[in-house]
Amino acid sequence: MIFPRIEITEDIPEQYGGQFIPPWTIKIRPKYKDDAGLIAHEIEHFKQFIRTLGLHAILYNFVDKYKLLAEVKAYKVQLKYPCGNALVFADFISTKYNLAITKEEALKLLIG
Ligand SMILES: [Zn+2]
Repeated sequence: MIFPRIEITEDIPEQYGGQFIPPWTIKIRPKYKDDAGLIAHEIEHFKQFIRTLGLHAILYNFVDKYKLLAEVKAYKVQLKYPCGNALVFADFISTKYNLAITKEEALKLLIG
């Protein structure tokens, strides 16, 4: 069994609170260090990396449709936590990832 290493740091692109760095580092901003939902979101990306035998790292960066599905899946995991908010996450998906998707379309993928 492989576990990710969680690093509390401000060294993350400004639009994100957390970031998965393949192969097994998860970076979380200090102000979100106790945000179990965000950590679960990043652990889901780690699992995507393991499940695809590492292909996730390439697909995520070069195939928008894969990136969208990977984020929808990670935000669905995050939605199970008390701070999870589908409207906020749909807004994130439509604005933070350079994906050609509206907030309404993202919301449908999250809860539809
Ligand atoms: Zn994500």
